[in-house]
Amino acid sequence: MQPYLLLLGVLIALLVGLAAGKAWERYKLVEGRWIDRRRGRQAPHFILGLNYLVANQVDEAIEELEKALKIDPGALEVKLVLGNLYREKGQVGRAIQEHQVLLQKPRLNRIEHANVLLCLGLDYRRGGFIDRAAAAFAEVLKLDPEHEAALVNLEKLQEEQHQWQEAYVTRQRLASLVGAPDQPRSQAILAFLEHELGLQALKQGQLDEAVLRFNSAIEQGRTVVPAYLHLGDVHMLRHDPNAAIKVWETMIGVAPDRAYLAFDRLERAYVTVGGGDRFAALCRRLISETPREWRARAALAAHLTSRGQTEPAIELLFEALEHNPHALAIHQALWNTLSTLDLPRTLVARYISITRQSVFYLDPHVCTRCRYRSTELLWQCPHCHEWNTFIEERITPASDIEAEMPTTMSLAAGSENGTS
Ligand SMILES: [Zn+2]
Repeated sequence: MQPYLLLLGVLIALLVGLAAGKAWERYKLVEGRWIDRRRGRQAPHFILGLNYLVANQVDEAIEELEKALKIDPGALEVKLVLGNLYREKGQVGRAIQEHQVLLQKPRLNRIEHANVLLCLGLDYRRGGFIDRAAAAFAEVLKLDPEHEAALVNLEKLQEEQHQWQEAYVTRQRLASLVGAPDQPRSQAILAFLEHELGLQALKQGQLDEAVLRFNSAIEQGRTVVPAYLHLGDVHMLRHDPNAAIKVWETMIGVAPDRAYLAFDRLERAYVTVGGGDRFAALCRRLISETPREWRARAALAAHLTSRGQTEPAIELLFEALEHNPHALAIHQALWNTLSTLDLPRTLVARYISITRQSVFYLDPHVCTRCRYRSTELLWQCPHCHEWNTFIEERITPASDIEAEMPTTMSLAAGSENGTS
């Protein structure tokens, strides 16, 4: 009997131990109270908070997550998210405080440590503490050299500081990390950064360096338009207009929708090489290739007006106006030409009837990523910091829009026009 009793005793002790271990795993003592670790995340507050977050109701999300945190004060993810929400609400000091407290936590694993540091870096960036933000991101990368979010944020920080070389190195690291589908994007970003380095060299008068950079930018991203423009500028500085013309014409070949950016430059360069007719020929070719093209019409009109050919010029301006009624430059050119002709009644009447049918827009350049609007063409969006995302919103007379759009879309577009 004795050995059986002993065995039973051992078995019971084992079971009690197991149960105690399980309980210890699930419950823990916080401020004299036993807390159910599972309850924190299973509590309705946590799920409710996430739901509010998805619905973009930040205040409600904060309220629910704070309640969830009362049930389980140690929940790292909840604290992390809460801190981020404070930051998004502009309470940067509070966000920093929350995240700093998390760093003091014992037994953070490497991934948790890196994520807390990343959030802290974002807090610093939001608060304008650039150096501290950079240090935090660098720290994350020490813990995890392949931390994509840290690299992306570090790159944006370096771009904001115009540290183009550093940003270039960071982007190279990112490019080596991301898989094939994202390679073209990285390549294009590297090209834009290379162009910025070229501009920096140009400003410092280092023309050789600038040429190298611009050429390398063009090699990496064939449609990096500003690199062509500035490469041509360097050729002009070196009194080589033929080389400049070649570069700018190549640019028009690869990005015809940006051709107008080289118009002034080309018009002057053609004159220096004694090819005065080449500019008109270029504009005519662009107009025939893209019937909606209005800038080539306006440029050709100005070119003809300066040579005293006002009648064909005014016809071109009327055509340009039909395609782009919002361009103040066309209205000014038209009035200028109309006044030199002493305001002929029939032409003025035509002007009035064309503009009456038109819809007018403000800020025609739109970021395709975040819908930020701008009056001028920008290569990097000041809002979402993405490169080369601006397109020019197509402008057509109201009658065209209504005819082309399905009814639901035209309603949406109508309300958007009303607000902008
Ligand atoms: Zn944007």
